[in-house]
Amino acid sequence: MRRKFVAGNWKMHGNLVDNDALLTGILAGIGEVRAEVAVCVPFPYLAQAKAKLAGSKVAWGAQNLSQHAKGAYTGEVSALMLNDFECKYVIVGHSERRALYGESDAIVAEKYAAAQTAGLVPILCVGETLEEREAGITEQVVGRQLDAVLNKSGVISFANAVIAYEPVWAIGTGKTATPEQAQAVHAFIRAKIRALDAEVAEHLVIQYGGSVKASNAAELFAQPDIDGGLIGGASLNAEEFLAICRAA
Ligand code: PEP
Repeated sequence: MRRKFVAGNWKMHGNLVDNDALLTGILAGIGEVRAEVAVCVPFPYLAQAKAKLAGSKVAWGAQNLSQHAKGAYTGEVSALMLNDFECKYVIVGHSERRALYGESDAIVAEKYAAAQTAGLVPILCVGETLEEREAGITEQVVGRQLDAVLNKSGVISFANAVIAYEPVWAIGTGKTATPEQAQAVHAFIRAKIRALDAEVAEHLVIQYGGSVKASNAAELFAQPDIDGGLIGGASLNAEEFLAICRAA
């Protein structure tokens, strides 16, 4: 059976005081959670996450990285810098990065490769916009996003990666994909990977992301190809996040 994995994406939220309370709350309840759990925090709080979570059941990671190893890239953060903070995970290709910061499929593929070269586990986000869903091209879009990474890093790279299917229309909108809608795309993703390597596909963790809450998590996570979630807004509340983790 595949492992279940729930990761929180804090986005650009938090401060030292609030983070401490949030992490303390998560640690207090993590004993009852069977799934693997991680929090992806803003860069300035990686040291805090490491200090607070080292030795616990909760892993930590970043929300982005540079595709470059080092150099004149003002404001960027490299994979090796993330290693200094012992990050396990890094989110790559979140739809907000693609839409607001112009990250193309090619850049996302470079970032994914840079993360893996440094030993980080990328959480690769893919997903369609509402217009794309309504145009009936969801599989085409998700397939294209996956192909960019497959062409650069190969299917075997997915033995050390996580995919998060996040329909853009469901992120931060309160509109969740129905379990059936989500399962259909998850099955498509797994079939695409299976066509290249059945073993990798069988073990690949595919998270769902998009307005997951304690009230809808169990139904989503019960789907055969949904292996947990990437959680935005609801990961900022310890009780809500723990309830989602317990549902996985
Ligand atoms: C996300 O940021 O990846 C996300 C899924 O956000 P939310 O849960 O708030 O929709």
